[in-house]
Amino acid sequence: MGTIQQSHIIDSIADSLQFMSYFHPLDFITAVNEAYEREESKAAKSAMAQILINSRMCAQGRRPICQDTGIVTVFVNVGMDVSWDCEMPLTDMINEGVRRAYTHPDNVLRASILADPAGARKNTGDNTPAVIHYDIVPGDKVEVFIAAKGGGSENKAKLAMLNPSDSIVDWVLETVPKMGAGWCPPGMLGIGIGGTAEKAAVLAKKSLMDPVDIHELRKRGPKNRVEELRLELMDKVNRLGIGAQGLGGLTTVLDVKILDYPTHAASKPVAMIPNCAATRHVHFVLDGSGAATFSPPSIDDWPEITWDPGADAIRVDLETVTAADIKTWEPGQTILLSGKLLTGRDAAHKRMTEMLDRGETLPVDLKGRFIYYVGPVKPVREEAVGPAGPTTSTRMDKFTRQMLAETGLAGMVGKAERGDVAIDAIKEFGAVYLMAVGGAAYLVSKAIKKSRVVAFEELGMEAIYEFEVEDMPVTVAVDSQGVSVHNTGPAQWKQVIELKVPEKTT
Ligand code: SF4
Repeated sequence: MGTIQQSHIIDSIADSLQFMSYFHPLDFITAVNEAYEREESKAAKSAMAQILINSRMCAQGRRPICQDTGIVTVFVNVGMDVSWDCEMPLTDMINEGVRRAYTHPDNVLRASILADPAGARKNTGDNTPAVIHYDIVPGDKVEVFIAAKGGGSENKAKLAMLNPSDSIVDWVLETVPKMGAGWCPPGMLGIGIGGTAEKAAVLAKKSLMDPVDIHELRKRGPKNRVEELRLELMDKVNRLGIGAQGLGGLTTVLDVKILDYPTHAASKPVAMIPNCAATRHVHFVLDGSGAATFSPPSIDDWPEITWDPGADAIRVDLETVTAADIKTWEPGQTILLSGKLLTGRDAAHKRMTEMLDRGETLPVDLKGRFIYYVGPVKPVREEAVGPAGPTTSTRMDKFTRQMLAETGLAGMVGKAERGDVAIDAIKEFGAVYLMAVGGAAYLVSKAIKKSRVVAFEELGMEAIYEFEVEDMPVTVAVDSQGVSVHNTGPAQWKQVIELKVPEKTT
């Protein structure tokens, strides 16, 4: 029996988090590539191309797949007979590993964790603490499943305490369209069934630690009700037509994972947690022989995909663009932005609207400008900025009317759909909402040539930056008339799928 030392835990946690920050699991890349090859929706195919190109670039450049480098979630199976030679408690060792990973000078990761979540919401600075689940199991080893889970997909988690006679399939099919696209599909759905409310949620999260293997299940055939449900839900969710990034298309989910547990006769708890385009998880076992090692995959395992903006793409200079120009932009059109682009997300918007309420002058003049909803990773080496993909725009919906009405802001860039309140304001003020691809953060950052903080520096990654961008690819997601591609795209593709393959034959 080996003895597990402190360095085995700390180094393994730190190295696994660095590894997953830039290497997608290959099963996930294979599944996205298959979906890309199959996809017939131009917009969804373009989004998946950008996700795959970004993934390859991250593997080569060893920089994060997404600017949201996640909240660390760990499932640890601790053998009852493990021999330890450690001074720190296991939880402290895991958090020390997280700290070292997120502050690694060669590949600094974004610190996204805020203490005092109902109050000051102060960044802990090193992405600690992790969320850790322990199981005590037979044996003399420590088994670890670790993930870095993006906030956009975590925010779409759902829990329902169904009646025993209710249909889980019906609940999932009602719920997924309401989740919007802020979870950056294509991805996976993790579903926990049974136990109690909290058990179902933990099962849903744990199910996402397994590789994409639904094709193997389909080939060999289901052996129990849970496996039947996985196939049924995969097919039926994809028939909704939501598609990559919610743009409408054939593939929304690449796999559906389910874990179950006995439950009370009066209950049927169901939890559902999506995993996004930045699916990141690693599994390792420690037996006392040393820290876990992670072999880099071959870059040849990534498909070589090219992306071109298409014949209808237009180049826009942010210094000279006018309201009249914006009116000519069509929903779904690709735009290559160049010039000065401001950034701002939750905390900056809250501050700016509070200042407007008090009649104060904002630190930056927004008249005629565009704001990009982003919280970038810090740069390393020669980078102007680290990975800098869009964050979920619906969180800014409640600020949008006031920003457009009182500052003269011309447009916004973010990820996924806008809610009705924001769409109405965009239409009223003749503004525009552009979307970049969530999960293609390193690719997006290559279009950012310069970056400087212009306000609220103390907010860290939530400060207002001014980026100088060159040909940054975005899509018109809500035009100046209020037409949203996140409404029209899925509706159109749901019909297309129904016509192609009527439900009874699937
Ligand atoms: S891919 Fe989307 S949901 Fe996932 S971490 Fe990145 S921004 Fe968040």
